[in-house]
Amino acid sequence: MKFVYRFGARRADGSAKMRDLLGGKGANLAEMANIGLPVPAGFTISTAVCVHYMKTGNYPPGLAQQVREGLAYVERQAGRRFGDPKAPLLLSCRSGARASMPGMMETVLNIGLSERTLPGLVALTGDERFAYDAYRRLLAMYADVVMEKAEGIEPAEGQGIRAQLEGLMRGLKERTGRRQDADLTVDDLKELCGAFRERIEQVFGRPFPDSPREQLWNSIRAVFRSWNGKRAVSYRRIENLPDDWGTAVNVQAMVFGNLGATSATGVAFTRNPATGDARFYGEWLRNAQGEDVVAGIRTPNPLNAASRNVRNAGMESFEEAMPGLYAELDGYRRILERHFRDMQDLEFTVENGRLYMLQTRTGKRTGVAAINVAMDMAAEKLIDERTVLLRVKPEQLDELLHPILDPAAEKDATVIGEGLPAGPGGATGRVALTAADAIERARQGDPVILVREETSPEDIDGMRAAAGILTARGGMTSHAALVARGWGKCCIVGAKSATVDVAGRTVRFGELAVADGDWLTLNGTKGRVYAGRLPMIDASEQPRFQQFMKLADKHRRLAVRANAETPADAAVGRRLGAEGIGLFRTEHMFYGKGSDESLFLLRKMILARNVAERRAALDELFVHVKTVVKGTLEAMDGLPVTIRLLDPPLHEFVPKSEEKQAALAEALGVSVEEVRERGKELRELNPMMGHRGVRVGITYPEVTEMQARAIFEAAAELLAEKRRPIPEIMVPVTCEARELEHQNAIIARVHVEVCRKAGRRRIPHLVGTMIEIPRAALLAGEMARAAEFFSFGTNDLTQMTFGFSRDDAATFLPDYLAKRLLAADPFQTIDVAAVGELMQTGVSRGRAVRPGLKIGICGEHGGDPDSIRFCHQVGMDYVSCSPYRVPVARLAAAQAALLDRRPVRPAKSRPARRPARKAR
Ligand code: PEP
Ligand code: MG
Repeated sequence: MKFVYRFGARRADGSAKMRDLLGGKGANLAEMANIGLPVPAGFTISTAVCVHYMKTGNYPPGLAQQVREGLAYVERQAGRRFGDPKAPLLLSCRSGARASMPGMMETVLNIGLSERTLPGLVALTGDERFAYDAYRRLLAMYADVVMEKAEGIEPAEGQGIRAQLEGLMRGLKERTGRRQDADLTVDDLKELCGAFRERIEQVFGRPFPDSPREQLWNSIRAVFRSWNGKRAVSYRRIENLPDDWGTAVNVQAMVFGNLGATSATGVAFTRNPATGDARFYGEWLRNAQGEDVVAGIRTPNPLNAASRNVRNAGMESFEEAMPGLYAELDGYRRILERHFRDMQDLEFTVENGRLYMLQTRTGKRTGVAAINVAMDMAAEKLIDERTVLLRVKPEQLDELLHPILDPAAEKDATVIGEGLPAGPGGATGRVALTAADAIERARQGDPVILVREETSPEDIDGMRAAAGILTARGGMTSHAALVARGWGKCCIVGAKSATVDVAGRTVRFGELAVADGDWLTLNGTKGRVYAGRLPMIDASEQPRFQQFMKLADKHRRLAVRANAETPADAAVGRRLGAEGIGLFRTEHMFYGKGSDESLFLLRKMILARNVAERRAALDELFVHVKTVVKGTLEAMDGLPVTIRLLDPPLHEFVPKSEEKQAALAEALGVSVEEVRERGKELRELNPMMGHRGVRVGITYPEVTEMQARAIFEAAAELLAEKRRPIPEIMVPVTCEARELEHQNAIIARVHVEVCRKAGRRRIPHLVGTMIEIPRAALLAGEMARAAEFFSFGTNDLTQMTFGFSRDDAATFLPDYLAKRLLAADPFQTIDVAAVGELMQTGVSRGRAVRPGLKIGICGEHGGDPDSIRFCHQVGMDYVSCSPYRVPVARLAAAQAALLDRRPVRPAKSRPARRPARKAR
């Protein structure tokens, strides 16, 4: 079996198509070689070897021989031998999984340097300083990656070997008065290498290996082991990547960007990854090795004029410094974009005036950039409409809908610091100085701005938890920037004026000290930092965004509605493209700010001792319900509004505190004792399965009657005003067709009464039910006889299918996810295996009885892209989600249609569809 794939001068064993086996990096190195770009020779050890190693702890037979042959090939191409004391070939060893995992990359450079080969490298390059500089880098990387991380050693923060070696270097600089790394002399570096070796042996109890072969094999093994390292596992969990992919290992001949003034290294994007601007964008450093650009130790120079910003404004660009090589690189940029038809993230190195391409991969980008790049590339005829829509992850739209700083407030605020705009949008929150604090405070519901000197991959969970990220060091291509950009998180890096003092629990911006826990506001689009808490506004009105959404609408079959219960929320949903309301939760009128009066009336109704009292209370409540329903129908004029009858358990509305009970008793003219007694009577052991939903309407038909009257009268008044209200009355928590028939009779009677009073023949409306109890899904045929539409309440359906309480699952679900007993949280993504099966059954049995039955979903899953895809596949008519998720759902629905091979037909003219799989 083939485990080792070679690449080099204009040819390779592999290609971009072999990503699963070669990892993204290896596949693209092969592809670059195939299309004639100057790639230093090397070979990729496939992911299959990693998988084998993870399972057995050993390498597959034959690997050693293939690696030997691969090495011989690289030696031939480079014209030098590995381990040769006279003119040694040096190698790099890097991980590369199928999906890019920025910051999770294990890298060891300069493998092959040892006390024996050092003189050879000096002779070869004529540069003793360079050789020792390369050696100290190898010592540090090898000790960190191979001797510490791969062995699972986890020292306390700041105690790791890398930090210890950096400490030695700092100490030397202080002692000798050298300011920059570049100021260190040959003798300094020699001394440093000796000190490094000593410290390594002291810490690990064994010396740094002098044998190049041992260095190579240990590095390979370290990369394989890193796949199960803490950082990689954490990243995979967040990104939902499978554990069994494994990583490939890329072994490649070193080229040196640090051989003096005619050498350089850089990182570039074929377009701007933050904005999508179609100009070449990047950073470079003269006389440096690759890590220097991304590590944030030196401020990199701009690649060209388009890459200038506040920090590098006065610095020489690559275009100015090496115009010929810039032109060559720009040529490769065009070739690569045309070849891959997507924005690429490149690494290059110049060794003594010769350009080498070290990497290309799909560039991570913000949501704004994703839309701009896709739309531009369509205009440039590089990609088609379908690809435009599939290029943007639905979740990325979220970022465009996320707040930006209110420009009016920003104008008056004072900038306290400036850095690079690494992740767009605005964020405001309280300062946290460690990842652990960020996680803890975010868990308590506090928005957090994570402020770090520079982020390390260990900070990943803290970065995730934070609303925004600010670092004092680092460039646009630093790990923090890449990761934040990938998540669409507001992020500023390299804010030079910030001094982070973790021990002293402050960040200083010049004179100004901001304490841990103080408010801070970031403008990630401009790279500006403000003290305090500034207001945010919505960013969804950009024309490009609108055009993109229009394109999505052209391709989707599913309609998208919003869950909203106030005229204001309805208007937000409508502005963001909702085609109706899929769930108006009536009881929400009685919660929150401004609901005191209506809540009082509801309580009066609940405490009524007989029908007459209840009717009197309902008459008062009616006025309020009608007003809110009318306002919402008006806001959604011409679009359907699904109004659900009261759902929650009644005891929730009985006041609990003695004070409130007394006030209510006084207002109602009853005794406190009576209020308390009624509360006790209503209390249930398991309210989620208690007297809620349709059951309230069965016990108290007058409650249903009042609601139906409010809805019909509101609609009749709007019709009289020449509006087009389309109410859909929805009966919740049903499990039996007779419940529905009972409610239908009340609703139908009220409809006749209101029509008579309003002088109309009919008020257009539908009456349907939620399907949120497994029994209702299984008996969907019977339910459909009494329902004109179904809406799946997947919150309750999930709760009742799993037997996991919606309210209590947070105490144990995280363990299920951490232990991989469940692939995803079933309250977020539909569990296709069982809940999905019930839904499919519901759809097919319902439509078998009532062809063309309108079916939607209104549980939280209605805004989840994977769940939306499932809803499309089972032939639903619409999904409904919270107003701000509407654009996400529109795109997810378009992608579902594009990935579905069946022809797209508009929902309205579509005949009853049989779902793909048959119900049991
Ligand atoms: C549901 O159960 O999915 C639903 C939408 O209703 P609620 O969340 O109000 O119970
Ligand atoms: Mg429900």
